[in-house]
Amino acid sequence: MSKLKSFKLCYICGVFTSLYVLTPAKLTFELDFYTEMAIKITDECINCGACEPECPNNAIYDAGAAWRYSDGTSLRGLIAFPDGTARDAEEARPAVSDEVYFIVSDKCTECVGFHDEPQCAAVCPVDCCVDDEDIRETEEELLAKKAFLHLE
Ligand code: SF4
Ligand code: SF4
Repeated sequence: MSKLKSFKLCYICGVFTSLYVLTPAKLTFELDFYTEMAIKITDECINCGACEPECPNNAIYDAGAAWRYSDGTSLRGLIAFPDGTARDAEEARPAVSDEVYFIVSDKCTECVGFHDEPQCAAVCPVDCCVDDEDIRETEEELLAKKAFLHLE
């Protein structure tokens, strides 16, 4: 049986919930301030592969590789997102880059809850794992994403 889950924030309890079906839309809202930035890989990447095994969420993929929400996570079946869409966790999705390694931002928690710093950035020999200024998330959101990905 498919499960429907979401990153939405409960207005009553103030924490993210992984059970979208139990959280009416009118009780959710999005935070409008952010303190953290997601990590992205720039085209300076030399495709050495050092970062990929270090990611606790399996958010890093080789150039041209298909990716899945279910890879390295506990997500299975249908999952729901704040924009109202539902996606199949096990569906193969197109590579973000055909040239260099890439990070799936939906699966990146900046290593919050696992490590003190982003592990990809820590091991990258050419320092091309950098902050993505277009994606900002609070520590609370990142912890909620971690719990969502791993059904904690
Ligand atoms: Fe993975 Fe951490 Fe890098 Fe995000 S910051 S891609 S979770 S290793
Ligand atoms: Fe690219 Fe750095 Fe990852 Fe090596 S460690 S694959 S250079 S992002």
